[in-house]
Amino acid sequence: MKIGVLALQGDFQRHLTRLGEIGVKGIAVRKPEALKDCQGLIIPGGESTTLVKLMKNIGLFEAIPEFNRRWPVFGTCAGAILVSREVNNHPVEPLGLMDIAVQRNAYGRQIDSFVEDVTVNLAGAPQRIEAVFIRAPRITRIGEGVEVLSRRNGDLIFVESERVLAATFHPELTANPLVHQYFVAKVRKTL
Ligand code: GLN
Repeated sequence: MKIGVLALQGDFQRHLTRLGEIGVKGIAVRKPEALKDCQGLIIPGGESTTLVKLMKNIGLFEAIPEFNRRWPVFGTCAGAILVSREVNNHPVEPLGLMDIAVQRNAYGRQIDSFVEDVTVNLAGAPQRIEAVFIRAPRITRIGEGVEVLSRRNGDLIFVESERVLAATFHPELTANPLVHQYFVAKVRKTL
């Protein structure tokens, strides 16, 4: 099994490192053809507007939804914006892989980055993990078939549907492998 990491911009290198640490081969995805070798895809944090432009330029904006018909996709931070169906406060055109709405840069300027311990419900087992939020979005609505894996002060921060995971924080920035392992297990189930 190989998992692709969208490697156009943003924090892709750390995701590749984390995958390596849990014994999974990660592939840097820079063009649509690279998806042929992957059974899952991580869309990292970065700048959602820039990521959309770059994806459109090289054909990944069409190729990723096609890939997601068969294989799971995990969006973190800007990646969570990209997998959403609706961005409330910015003219960003998301991929629409999951029926959620998001608000970009939802936590204001003074506290636009922070680290906090949160509880995530992975396969019914609550676990405490450290979550890093960097100019994070907020998930403002979830549709049918979307489950909540974690909340922080009432805000949804980690959600899941049949073939998509979205986290508003950066699991690649902490050493704890739980979140990446959870995605890998989701990919394994589809093999
Ligand atoms: N603020 C960025 C955006 O809206 C996301 C930040 C991040 O990915 N760390 O695209």
